[in-house]
Amino acid sequence: MDSLYLKMLPVFFVVSGLVKAVPVTVGWALGRTRLAERFRVYRRSLAPGQLRSEARAAVGVVLCDALLITAFRAAFERQIAPFSLGASLLTFAWMFVGFEVWFYVSHRLLHTRALYRFHAQHHVAQVTDPLTSLSFSMVERLVLMGGGFGLVILAMQVMPVTQVGIMAYILTNYALNVFGHGNTEWLPERFVASPAGRLFFTPTFHALHHARYQGHYGLFTPILDRWLGTAFDDYAEVHGLARRGLGLERIGERVRSAKQPASLVPTPTSTTGTA
Ligand SMILES: [Zn+2]
Ligand SMILES: [Zn+2]
Repeated sequence: MDSLYLKMLPVFFVVSGLVKAVPVTVGWALGRTRLAERFRVYRRSLAPGQLRSEARAAVGVVLCDALLITAFRAAFERQIAPFSLGASLLTFAWMFVGFEVWFYVSHRLLHTRALYRFHAQHHVAQVTDPLTSLSFSMVERLVLMGGGFGLVILAMQVMPVTQVGIMAYILTNYALNVFGHGNTEWLPERFVASPAGRLFFTPTFHALHHARYQGHYGLFTPILDRWLGTAFDDYAEVHGLARRGLGLERIGERVRSAKQPASLVPTPTSTTGTA
């Protein structure tokens, strides 16, 4: 890495920190409002020490990202295409779709017995908060960022990739990650069954992953979980309860789903998740 890029490292550190700190702060402020209190997915407090653990991990993530961004720019900056709207939209679309696939596959592997230890930091949160969006072990962060950079490098071989398209995706990713970890259901009750709700996730979708572990591995779309049989049957019902101010009070709690006969609904005690 040449010295110019090394000199830029503190700048990347500040930028990497700011693009994460701003959405987390906004998410935190919105999540403390009375309206947000009404729409909690899980009506439970955070675990003792959770925030401290997540804050420590977040500092590591900001540092790790700054180093990776510096190395990436040193190696690949010359291959970035000049701005054009079409190329930027294409870059954004490629990153969005590609990262959904990368995230689902790597996340599902990280839930195997052999690899879960690298993912355990993210599951310090059974009940999530905006800071959970930055709570990763260093190994998991390298996997996630490696996938992101890999997609950019792959795309560069076959199409023009613009800085605007990449940045737009990164900002969208951070904003949606904070939204998804807010434990607050902002989207209306009819959303889950709507065409948009079949394409895009909700905070309830990801809150269920943290509470139950085995299922809802997808990032911002429920499509892959639906196709691959890892979606929860009672997702729409839990979403509806959160919107009616009746969020769940127990971690392992299941709700009777329209798709499931009452006799098959597990009792809360038999489904309490463990790492
Ligand atoms: Zn999460
Ligand atoms: Zn997980």
